[in-house]
Amino acid sequence: MVSQGRTAGRVPIRTCVGCRSRAEKNELLRVVADGPGPVSELVPDPDGLLPGRGAYIHVNPGCLDVAVRRRAFARAFRRAGPLDASVVRRWLESETPNGASPGRTDTRRPRLIGQEEGDTT
Ligand SMILES: [Zn+2]
Repeated sequence: MVSQGRTAGRVPIRTCVGCRSRAEKNELLRVVADGPGPVSELVPDPDGLLPGRGAYIHVNPGCLDVAVRRRAFARAFRRAGPLDASVVRRWLESETPNGASPGRTDTRRPRLIGQEEGDTT
């Protein structure tokens, strides 16, 4: 166990599990793994209130993609089974300013059943 206080800065620094770069804690989203079962769900914890082990990731769906591909969450949470990142992805996409995702369909909002998005511009 390493006690706190090594860094002189006032703001805690965390490492993004996606791009592995360090950032101030308030620039990162805390993510926890919910559920003891073989398939755990990753849950966004922007306020840092949820108990348990947390991982930190940039508010950037691209970092989530990298983290999922590298199974960085499985390592961070010491889970052997798959982790469902869909909730976190939706959270990140809703927090990411639109226009920063080239070639991406806008899937931020849950689609209403029986109602399709038209080509209205
Ligand atoms: Zn990152």
